Amino acid sequence: MSAGAGRYAPTPSSDLHLGNLRTAVVAYLAARHDGLAFKMRLEDLDDRSRPDFAERQLADLAALGLVWDGPVMVQSQRRQAYDAAVDRLTGAGLTYECFCSRRDILEAPRAPHQPPGVYPGTCRRLSAAERARRRRVKAPAIRLRAGVGEFAVCDWRAGRGPQPVDDFILRRADGVSAYNLAVVVDDAAQSVSQVTRGDDLLSSSGRQSYVGSLLGLPPVSYVHLPLVMGRSGRRLSKRDSALAGAALFDRLGGAVGVLGAIGRSIGWDGGASAGASLDELLEWFDWDRLRIGVWTP
Ligand code: GLU
Repeated sequence: MSAGAGRYAPTPSSDLHLGNLRTAVVAYLAARHDGLAFKMRLEDLDDRSRPDFAERQLADLAALGLVWDGPVMVQSQRRQAYDAAVDRLTGAGLTYECFCSRRDILEAPRAPHQPPGVYPGTCRRLSAAERARRRRVKAPAIRLRAGVGEFAVCDWRAGRGPQPVDDFILRRADGVSAYNLAVVVDDAAQSVSQVTRGDDLLSSSGRQSYVGSLLGLPPVSYVHLPLVMGRSGRRLSKRDSALAGAALFDRLGGAVGVLGAIGRSIGWDGGASAGASLDELLEWFDWDRLRIGVWTP
């Protein structure tokens, strides 16, 4: 096995739906095919995370036959590592305190090319006296002082191209690390070199790769996959309970049925209703064979 790893990193705020399971299976097949280790991580910094969801997510992944290397990393236990990374960036003059509320950000004047959601830099130039005054009223979040507006990443589907970077939050005002920092620190700690996940995160990959480069961490390559669409043409979401958890396994005839459906949606030609095993899919898998489009189950 070469150095490096693939990984799957669910947020335990719901059961895994068919789109999540497909992403997990492709992450596993890709890692094993490329001779990489496969790591698991629970991204439970989100306030909606619950231990029972975490348990069920891991059980569903194991039921599909996924086996991960080493212990499951749990983000809520990693605060020291995140704080150390923020301290390093602060030591290098690459952070600043931000006192803005969500509303301040939405209402702030912005340059015409700046999309909403990109931080307009309001607190970047506060004087030390102004920061001290505001700190007495409100705990600050910590933002990255970004030196670029975009950063090139390499994605298997999208190719190599720039993704936006702004002064994103590294640590929230309540002291909890932001996802964009935690994911980078953790991928490095788990020796991850191949990041497979939903394509809703492609637009975050520039921010993450950029902060990784500032921390001197090795670059990763990305495989961003479309999340399966529901009947209404929407992405599957927590509301699609018939396509998640135990209801999904029941409906598709257990793990082989779920794997057969996932296989067909990525180009495996196993017959219209055949079930599949993970070993069968692994034997079939090759990057040239992978055909992933939007999928309406
Ligand atoms: N935890 C994120 C999610 O469940 C995925 C983050 C990642 O893979 O980088 O959507």
